[in-house]
Amino acid sequence: MTEPAPDAPATARLRRWLRPAVLAMEPYAAAPLPAAASEPAAKLDAMELPYALPAALRARCLRQLRIQPLHRYPDADAGALRRALRAALDIPDSLALLPGNGSDELILYLTLALAGRGRKVLAPEPTFVMYRRVAAMAGMEYVGVPLRPDDFALDPEAMRAAIVRHRPAIVWLAWPNNPTGALFDEEAVRQVVRAAPGIVVADEAYFPYSRRTLLGAVSEYEHLLVLRTLSKMGLAALRIGVLIGAPHWLEQLEKLRLPYNVGALNQVCAAHLLGANGADYSADFEPLLERNRAARQKLYRALRRLDGVEVWPSHANFLLLRLAAAPADAVHRALRRRGVLVKNLHGSHPSLRQCLRVSVGAAAENRLFLRSLREALRAHGGGASPRTGTYKNPAGIQ
Ligand SMILES: *Cc1c(COP(=O)(O)O)cnc(C)c1O
Repeated sequence: MTEPAPDAPATARLRRWLRPAVLAMEPYAAAPLPAAASEPAAKLDAMELPYALPAALRARCLRQLRIQPLHRYPDADAGALRRALRAALDIPDSLALLPGNGSDELILYLTLALAGRGRKVLAPEPTFVMYRRVAAMAGMEYVGVPLRPDDFALDPEAMRAAIVRHRPAIVWLAWPNNPTGALFDEEAVRQVVRAAPGIVVADEAYFPYSRRTLLGAVSEYEHLLVLRTLSKMGLAALRIGVLIGAPHWLEQLEKLRLPYNVGALNQVCAAHLLGANGADYSADFEPLLERNRAARQKLYRALRRLDGVEVWPSHANFLLLRLAAAPADAVHRALRRRGVLVKNLHGSHPSLRQCLRVSVGAAAENRLFLRSLREALRAHGGGASPRTGTYKNPAGIQ
């Protein structure tokens, strides 16, 4: 390609120098709020815990922040944070951990560490979009292997065939999966781990809701890493993720960590809330998580009763639904006009056609969502009368 002239339009220079993979990327849209509402009436688009921390806990945290010097860099090693994470997340002494500025940052480090010409990243699809985005940033090829379209289960045979064919450097398994809420069968996951030539990451962002972990399997498979985050359990503002695995892998990945990647206020706040200075992480957070799990069950049942709505069981703090008659785009817009924010998945993947994802909110948010959804479905010809008859859920999962 020829050099653009010094006075060439700015876009010529930009097209000459920006990597094609960057030019081809869509911005990661954290969707702007509707103009009418500066505060959404129901914020159900980002899997946050809908409850604020108890005031007493906040007050204790603020006392710690008040004495934190702001003119010094954070603890470079984030020692207190690491110790608190190890204790609160029950990380065995035989494993190492790496704290990140959210698990997104750890996805970036891992990908950069294994990137190279011709190397591939593989994940079952649909799944968390950052795996693909970060692969593009790192110049890696991304291979999506379709999940079973009816129940979004892992297809072990398709995964095995794709692994043999593509020899991926990294296999991502969101466990439970986002945006489907499914928890892949553990034996199917283990088959993937055994077949993979590179590393496999179990992304357990929704562990607080599924309460299932593959941490115990890391000692069996040294190339299995586990990713966790504090974002989905009530501390999204702090941006704390943690990668857990065999020390020989983590030692290498530690080299990619940017100095002071977790801010001092976030370190102190998280370490304190996770259990330092007399705080009791499980006692403080478990009631909120339990309330959210119960709310998910209630919302799931309410959605099951709506005509024109298909909803899948979820092991996470959100539900995936498909609209049978009304277009998801129109319903999504109608919900936004009422200040109800959910994620529109229509168009993001063939098996998510006419699908929306709704995070489980506080009781009033869930009621407003249901009321607004019924109205939107009626307005757009999608039914929404309560369904008659009862539904049996053999697995008892909601
Ligand atoms: C939300 C989410 C993350 C991102 O978590 P952060 O720690 O907030 O960066 C990672 N993985 C999955 C599957 C998620 O849904």
